[in-house]
This record gives sequence, C-alpha cells and structure tokens, in this order.
Amino acid sequence: MQSLLIHRNDTVKVITGSDRGKTGRVLRVFPDKGTLLVEHVRVVKKTVSSKTGQRTKGGIAEQESPIQISNVTLVCPNCGPSSVGRKREGDMRVRVCKTCGQTLPTKK
Ligand SMILES: [Zn+2]
Repeated sequence: MQSLLIHRNDTVKVITGSDRGKTGRVLRVFPDKGTLLVEHVRVVKKTVSSKTGQRTKGGIAEQESPIQISNVTLVCPNCGPSSVGRKREGDMRVRVCKTCGQTLPTKK
C-alpha cells in the first residue's frame, strides 16, 4: 500500500468543497478510506438530548466529519500551501516541500 503524504498533526488547507480555504490541523487519518479529519473543517452539529430526571444538559455538540485527502493540500511551514514530494535521506524517506525544498518533519 502506498503510504500517505499527509500525516496526523500536519497543517492542511482545504482546496475544494464548502470548507474551501480553511486551514486546520489533521486530527486523524483513515488510510483505508482515503479520508481524514481536520480540526474545525466539515464540522457537523449534533443535537444532544438531555436525559429526563438527570442533570445532564442537552445541547449541541460539534464534531468534525472526514473529508477526502484529495480535497486538501499540505501547508508548508516555510512557504504555505504546497505540494509534497519524497526524498531519501540516509535510511529514511522524508517528505519535502516541492516549492521551497524544505524537509517537512513528521510531528508525533
Ligand atoms: Zn515550502
């Protein structure tokens, strides 16, 4: 399987869809589905009902829903939204920004 160029904790920009132009941190990647969760992007509101007889407050909970990886582009810390490539560095395969050539660290 081809490994993905976008990882958890990367910053991405949405390039298509209703959230186009938004940037956010990648919360989760679903490689099988080719989708990811991005903070504050494609947020759906879920109604939470209060339970009768309990003091739990009902209301609206907000939750991100997955978007296609092809709908986002990685944001290079150096030069902004950019395409990403790979190169070999010693025994490691690292991601590089195709615009400025900077190595993109994988944040854990
Ligand atoms: Zn760059």
